[in-house]
Amino acid sequence: MLAAGNSAVAPPLTKLSEEEQMFQASVRRFARERLAPHVREMDQAGAFRSDLIRELFEGGLMSIEIPEEFEGQGGSFFQSILAIEELAKVDPSAAVIVDVQNTLFNNAILRWATAEQKRRWLPRAAKSSVASYALSEAASGSDAFALATRAAESGDDYLLNGRKLWITNAAEAELFLIFATVNPDAGYKGITAFLVERDFPGFRVGKKEDKLGIRASSTCELILDDCRVPKSNVIGEPGKGYKIAIETLNEGRVGIGAQMLGLAEGALAHALEYSKQRKQFGKAIAEFQGVQFDLAEMAVDIEAARLLVYNAARLRDAGQPVLTEGAMAKYFASQIAERVASRAVEIFGGVGFTKDYPVEKLYRDAKIGRIYEGTSNMQRVTIARQLLGSLK
Ligand SMILES: Cc1cc2nc3c(=O)[nH]c(=O)nc-3n(C[C@H](O)[C@H](O)[C@H](O)COP(=O)(O)OP(=O)(O)OC[C@H]3O[C@@H](n4cnc5c(N)ncnc54)[C@H](O)[C@@H]3O)c2cc1C
Repeated sequence: MLAAGNSAVAPPLTKLSEEEQMFQASVRRFARERLAPHVREMDQAGAFRSDLIRELFEGGLMSIEIPEEFEGQGGSFFQSILAIEELAKVDPSAAVIVDVQNTLFNNAILRWATAEQKRRWLPRAAKSSVASYALSEAASGSDAFALATRAAESGDDYLLNGRKLWITNAAEAELFLIFATVNPDAGYKGITAFLVERDFPGFRVGKKEDKLGIRASSTCELILDDCRVPKSNVIGEPGKGYKIAIETLNEGRVGIGAQMLGLAEGALAHALEYSKQRKQFGKAIAEFQGVQFDLAEMAVDIEAARLLVYNAARLRDAGQPVLTEGAMAKYFASQIAERVASRAVEIFGGVGFTKDYPVEKLYRDAKIGRIYEGTSNMQRVTIARQLLGSLK
């Protein structure tokens, strides 16, 4: 038998290293002290405060995996996941701002950009420039590679024409990773990734959506009318954009899983606190077994989601593929986020249905988890394909 503490014994999945614990505690403090007081006002305004975005940069939360040589934190993917989870407990809008920056934009640049491109853009992404990741269009959502935005060669540049829809962070962003096709006849093999800066001629950010949930996170249309983009701004090679999109989204989904996990944890924490205070029939409602059973099931849902999300994140840091694990984590965490937030609203009773208490917002915020970065159906397609692969 192996002795306890033997290095051959793998640590529990949810056991955090000392560094991870310290990092988690600092994000938790920021979320409680700086973010929480503004959540309701930002939800009502449908806008995220610029001073808080600045603080996200100053706290290193927009550059978690960017190496120190590019002015980032030199942290792990798992730390990004911890940050997204902690922020989502308090505000899922803050969580998705950090998620897109770290798990999609920075991740793509770190993996695919040249050394020169990294020197140009990573310090900006680390210090001050919010970033967006633009794949979706009006006619291509789940079928993302049917995109129509066109990139035509013009001397040392490409001219980009088209419209992107649903782009997170776009109201604030200065850097945009935009997917367009250099050859529509080549299907997905024409798709190419371009780094577009906000002030490029022919580029503008269009209408901002008025949404059900994550209202403080901006979601906008992008308009490209003969937008001139230097060839030196192609990330990866022309025609390789589909690979960049697939690889980053496979990992990005773990981030959405973390957002939904944190949201559910936030809802449970509110429900626990309220159930101990609210009295009916002469006692705290937490004393009723019916309420206790709800709370217990919420905790089981959360623990199961945490294991899926943490496992996928640790796999990614170990250099393992996360295609199926990321899809499962996102699929399950978004399912339980809706369920847990809904139960939390019920535990609050009538006041849970009002904007005076935070669970109403978490319930609205949960819905997006089953839609963006691939709908629940698309996650099931991915998982089933892996199961049935041998039939091909
Ligand atoms: C708030 C928000 C933020 C977003 N942020 C970004 C972003 O930053 N960048 C970006 O590029 N995109 C972003 N998106 C876009 C998002 O990824 C898409 O909305 C999503 O992929 C779904 O595409 P769609 O809306 O076109 O729905 P559709 O693809 O039209 O799907 C409609 C329904 O049909 C189902 N369906 C479609 N195809 C199949 C199939 N083969 N099998 C079974 N069911 C299917 C879907 O599951 C869904 O229920 C965002 C969207 C929202 C709402």
